[in-house]
Amino acid sequence: MVTVRNYDIPALRKLDVAHHLPAQSSYKLQQDMGGSRIITHAKGSTVYDGEGHAILDGMAGLWCVNVGYGRKELVDVAARQMEELPFYNTFFRTATPPPIELAAKVASLLGGNLNHVFFNNSGSESNDTVFRLVRTYWALKGEPKRTIFISRHNAYHGSTVASASLGGMDFMHVQGGLPIPGIEHVMQPYWFGDGFNEDPVAFGERAAAAIEERILAVGPENVAAFIGEPVQGAGGVIIPPPGYWQKVEAICRKYGILLVSDEVICGFGRLGEWFGFQHFGIKPDIVSMAKGLSSGYLPISATGVSSEIVEVLRASGEEFVHGYTYSGHPVAAAVALRNIQIMEDEHLVERTREDTGPYLAKVLAERLGDHPLVGEVRSLGLIGAVEIVAEKGTNRRHGTGGQAGPIVRDACIARGLMVRAIRDAIVMSPPLVITHAEIDQLVGTIADALDASA
Ligand code: PLP
Repeated sequence: MVTVRNYDIPALRKLDVAHHLPAQSSYKLQQDMGGSRIITHAKGSTVYDGEGHAILDGMAGLWCVNVGYGRKELVDVAARQMEELPFYNTFFRTATPPPIELAAKVASLLGGNLNHVFFNNSGSESNDTVFRLVRTYWALKGEPKRTIFISRHNAYHGSTVASASLGGMDFMHVQGGLPIPGIEHVMQPYWFGDGFNEDPVAFGERAAAAIEERILAVGPENVAAFIGEPVQGAGGVIIPPPGYWQKVEAICRKYGILLVSDEVICGFGRLGEWFGFQHFGIKPDIVSMAKGLSSGYLPISATGVSSEIVEVLRASGEEFVHGYTYSGHPVAAAVALRNIQIMEDEHLVERTREDTGPYLAKVLAERLGDHPLVGEVRSLGLIGAVEIVAEKGTNRRHGTGGQAGPIVRDACIARGLMVRAIRDAIVMSPPLVITHAEIDQLVGTIADALDASA
């Protein structure tokens, strides 16, 4: 591991409060805590804070550090690319080698007719690209009335104006007067929360049927696209019941609506396939990717686009007047390419599907399945959730709901495990390099934290 600099942590925390506004944070809480917890270095699946605590990173940073921390290969490729060419843009008929090579690689992983890739810097930007691309496509195709997007409650598609509007989190809509017009939200396929007494498959069919009902309500001729995460991540790790995605795909095809798969979390191995849509056996027209694309080592995101859509843009001869200074940034693209190569060399996708993913499911069931505070454990590949309930065998929450999750999360962090609480679910999304021993530690720590919070 590199020699870590000798930081003056108390001074940094003071500066944090005085000057730094962290993302998605309460600035009162930041102040009350005397500053953020400062993470100084990391290796493998473990991060270290300024006080010297080792913390097992059950979240892979923010669902993104798929190849784990401390990858010298990625440092070397970034340094080399910076020396050769730190930046040139892809505006105005120029490009650099890394984004071209990365586009070809990503297209080969996407497969089918998803032959084209547009680069952005974040998942949010990718979904803004989706928003403008889809409407531009329909306008150029001669169906300009098709402008409406259908999304789902508790979806998370980002934090920019369009992507937060596509998202279905009411508390995010309050700030800034969102959503912008033309976005319809329908129920999410959250069986444990919303369908507990129903047969899961029948519930999934009901959730898919809600999409069709909304399409008919607004008029199919006005609907441009449906967007969804294969497994909703920030919405609480919502793994849809079997058959749900097939039904959604069939509805989109029936009404000629584009299907957009937001793979910002699910992409790059998280569910045990390169992409979540491959796990569910569906064929989207557009795919949003970020996070695991570079394992978070540098910001980069990608929007995969089908040949049919690109043909319409080409045939029109129109410019797609959209893009960012750093679209296709050569250093970020070089790092992403090398990151994918690491995943291939170490078989991280197969390992997630055949080894670590099933092992996580087994340990969750064995250690937590019978726990009196646990209503459900669920996982798919290396993403999972533990639902905390007030009464075993029900989905009844403690108090008004939403209070138990943060208590258990804090008890996990105090015991050296980073997880998130989404309402009363403890969610996890560890690096894909996590070992069996670390999975034991992850689940064992949640069990201890639950016992301590009982
Ligand atoms: N889409 C999904 C499914 C996400 O989970 C996220 C972030 O967590 C985003 C989009 C937004 O990505 P970013 O934070 O890189 O803008």
